[in-house]
Amino acid sequence: MAYSEYWNPKNETLPREELQALQLLKLRRFCDWAYATTPFHQRKFDAAGFKPEQIKTLDDLRRIPFMTREEWMESLMEKPLFGDLLATDSRNAIRYHLTSGTTGRTPIRVLDSMKDWDWINEMWCYGIWGFGVRPEDVVYFAFGYGSFIGFWGAHYACEKLGALVIPGGAQTTEARIKQIIELGVTTVFSTPTYALHLWQKSREMGIDLARESKVNKVILSGEPAGSIPAVKHQLEEAWGARCGDTAGMTEIGTIMIFECSHQPGGTHIIEDHFIEEVLNPNSDEPVGYGELGERIVTSFGRGFIPLIRYRTKDMVMKVPASTCTCGRTWDIYSGGIRGRWDDMKLIRGTNVYPRAVEAIIREYPAIDEFQIYIWRKEELQDEITIKLEIKTGHEAEWPDIEHKLTKDLASAHEGLRFNIERMDYGVLPHFELKAKRLVDARPVANY
Ligand SMILES: [Zn+2]
Repeated sequence: MAYSEYWNPKNETLPREELQALQLLKLRRFCDWAYATTPFHQRKFDAAGFKPEQIKTLDDLRRIPFMTREEWMESLMEKPLFGDLLATDSRNAIRYHLTSGTTGRTPIRVLDSMKDWDWINEMWCYGIWGFGVRPEDVVYFAFGYGSFIGFWGAHYACEKLGALVIPGGAQTTEARIKQIIELGVTTVFSTPTYALHLWQKSREMGIDLARESKVNKVILSGEPAGSIPAVKHQLEEAWGARCGDTAGMTEIGTIMIFECSHQPGGTHIIEDHFIEEVLNPNSDEPVGYGELGERIVTSFGRGFIPLIRYRTKDMVMKVPASTCTCGRTWDIYSGGIRGRWDDMKLIRGTNVYPRAVEAIIREYPAIDEFQIYIWRKEELQDEITIKLEIKTGHEAEWPDIEHKLTKDLASAHEGLRFNIERMDYGVLPHFELKAKRLVDARPVANY
């Protein structure tokens, strides 16, 4: 059957002037909504002397104050559980999700309505249809289906476009591999790290995924590696399939960018639902095409928690839509999300802020010095190890610390497993000043 190449043929090929007119209209309405309903935005707009009616052109976007993750965290701490960010009564929500916070144990908590979820799924439809998922596909989610929002939206999107969905929830990697082969799966959704892990495990089982499975598409999310050419190439060889990158955020609930089936070496921005600015992170001035900057996102879709000019700290480089041959008029982030302007680390899809880890470790008076060591196991899997020294005279507490700290760190990080390693006293560098306690030993990405 012949299908359109686009999920939304009109909006995906809208001339840019019309696209910008649409963005302007949505921006004005969305600011009105946020100001009228959300104490957080009322407070911020008033402090900045900004009124939604001042938006006359898209350039007026720059009158709107930035929103930061730190402000979000502060609001959550002052007014648990959700801060003053909710635009409507929490009883209108149908779903709760969370992501790890920037400090200590408080996660970022989000609520969504049914309408929000319709939008979340629709954004995924743009992306996965754009990469070639069709009603004939049998799709497999190598995903935990927990509090982390991850692939939830993609699951519903696949149902919405008519594919057969296999939710590969709480199962062993071996069981997942068997299902992928037995059920004739054609499309797998996974983080890049786990897609490599599936392949490695399959080799141990004597299975050649490229030959013995019907998988022809692997859709990646959760880590920037999906756009790193070396990783992507390795994955495509291993699976004998095309690998498409997508990127989303729990703060948004869905994806903002996706790689189309023409694989232009980057990800299209869903510009009829988002405004993505790229700014110099120091001067806050816009940078041009081909220059690295910080992405600032305004989303028009999630009504429950309006996100306006949110500073993501993601490092990106925008190039014009015309760099791709697919005909979409939406600009592209060349190389996807290339890294971070802050010290956040992404470990197997989970955000880890070194200062949040430190805050938890500091709850243990018997721990003296420590180091956060991030490394790659067998060139495939990202691991995080806390190396620590116990204060003299407290050695007997070690077994308890090892057990409890592992639990505390995991519960503050979506269940992520931390390795804990005790070092002999004096082995770690002892820092006199506030020091670099973070070592990231993973290979550096090449574009
Ligand atoms: Zn394209």
